[in-house]
Amino acid sequence: MTFGRCIRTAVAAAMLLCALLAATAVSAAVRRPIATCVLRDAPGLNAVDLLRTPGRFDCRTPQSRFGAGDFWVVSERLPAIASSGLGLDVESGSVWQNRTTLYVLYADGALRRTGFSSARIGDHLLVGALFTTPLTLPGAAVPPVPPVRLLWHIEGAANTRGIVIGPELYDHRSQEKQQVFLAGFYGSFIGLAIALIVYNLALWRALRQRFQPVYCALVLCLLGYALSSSAILGLLFPGLANNDRMRLNIVLLGASAVWMLLFARTFFERRVFEGPIRTASTAVMVAIGFTSVLMAATLPWHATMVDRLNTLGFCGLIALVPAILWRAWRMRSRYLVMFALAWGVPVAFTVLRIAEALKLLPWSFWIDNSTVVAMMLEALLSSMAIAYRIKLLSLERDEAREQESAARILADIDPLTGLLNRRAFLARAIERKGEQMLLIADLDHFKAVNETIGHDGGDEVLRIVARALRTAVPADALVARIGGEEFAIIVDATAGIAASDILAALRTERMPFDLRVTASIGTCNGPITREADWNTLYREADRALFEAKSAGRDRARRARRAAA
Ligand code: GH3
Ligand code: MG
Ligand code: MG
Repeated sequence: MTFGRCIRTAVAAAMLLCALLAATAVSAAVRRPIATCVLRDAPGLNAVDLLRTPGRFDCRTPQSRFGAGDFWVVSERLPAIASSGLGLDVESGSVWQNRTTLYVLYADGALRRTGFSSARIGDHLLVGALFTTPLTLPGAAVPPVPPVRLLWHIEGAANTRGIVIGPELYDHRSQEKQQVFLAGFYGSFIGLAIALIVYNLALWRALRQRFQPVYCALVLCLLGYALSSSAILGLLFPGLANNDRMRLNIVLLGASAVWMLLFARTFFERRVFEGPIRTASTAVMVAIGFTSVLMAATLPWHATMVDRLNTLGFCGLIALVPAILWRAWRMRSRYLVMFALAWGVPVAFTVLRIAEALKLLPWSFWIDNSTVVAMMLEALLSSMAIAYRIKLLSLERDEAREQESAARILADIDPLTGLLNRRAFLARAIERKGEQMLLIADLDHFKAVNETIGHDGGDEVLRIVARALRTAVPADALVARIGGEEFAIIVDATAGIAASDILAALRTERMPFDLRVTASIGTCNGPITREADWNTLYREADRALFEAKSAGRDRARRARRAAA
């Protein structure tokens, strides 16, 4: 299976899994969204009066238009909803507020009160950062009477997203199923994040790529964000005020965005992030970092304005993405496709979140939790992107190794004849064990050969001679061109090679223009264990060669005394 196919299969499988999980969660739930109307709190207002005069509430203006403050929120008349017998709960998205008091009006006219505060949220916070309140309250009638209307009194709402957002009636059993699903959902992300961090740190020790620790920091921030935004952190630390958990959320989301950009900067080749794009990415990181910390530190101070500024920072991040991709494409980055694939989903979800923050889309649990879904996909794809980078690295290494060995071979070979050169010949000669015979062959009157058939013809003669010498001796013999028209052979003395046979073989070679080319050979026997041995052997063989030349050429002479 090719790498591309692997990726496509993994993406398809991950998406199918997410769709399947989402479908299971939704279909399992018996729930009913409820419409609400808002009234700003004023001195003298009380629940009993307000429930009698629901006409005073504003049902048109979107909640977030009211700004920060204290509010009364009344529900529509509640529909009859089938309950499993475990009773009903009302759920809504977690938002910044100090205290919620919920009044429940029952069909028998009874009005009961419950509530929670940010500091003592207790069991009212569910996995998935949802506020929940059971509607079967202490002192309820037996058999239970159904609730008909809800009235929330909210104190200290920052109201950046709404006052009571996405309220829904839930059958208690459905809620349990939803919680199991969400715990599994976040749990799998947390497990994945931990595995990715460990795996990438281990890889970093081995490969020392600068993007690896940055990636680990990014996943660590996302892990923190998943823990806080899912409210699992609140369950782990029951003393943690819900508003403080939300501060943490804002900081961790901002930090994740900053690390994401740092990751892009270290993942791509350096040339991609040169010039204005570097400055722009730094500006976006500073903007997101600053506004996130500002918001977390000062909430609910000017919450709407600071929230807008923070959203603007994230808009910058989104605007930067096409610029980065374009730049990577221009710079012919090898990581462009992998990067675009891995970050496409998180970027799309960030666009949705921004649309939600700007009230272009209504609040939705899934948009709020999209970061985690997107990062799950991103994390899987990024680990493949990293594998792809490692594959490129190993290809580079293999190439470098091949080049090195090719270079080493080239350094040993005489380019004209393909025989060993003098240096390689000497190096290998010294490694040979036992008595050796050195033959030095010099072509006769080669100057005249060049003059007759030209230099190119002379080269051809040299190639033919080289081939003839190579075939005239055993495979383990060393054959080299050690000078212009001078060759050397080293062969085991016991191999029974005679210089006269080599000369005879040369004479039978057909030369260009049927030219007659002969050589003279000087030989000497002896061991070669050190460079000094070689010098002696060479001197004696050369002297023998000179004798052969003097004696009329086209003949061989043996050194009179073998080298000791
Ligand atoms: P002798 O029989 O005494 O060896 O005579 P010679 O002409 O072969 O002697 P000499 O060593 O003076 O000449 C060698 C010639 O080989 C000179 C040079 O032009 C030629 N030669 C050296 N290298 C090459 C080469 O790579 N290609 C060609 N075509 N000729 C070469
Ligand atoms: Mg010669
Ligand atoms: Mg010569």
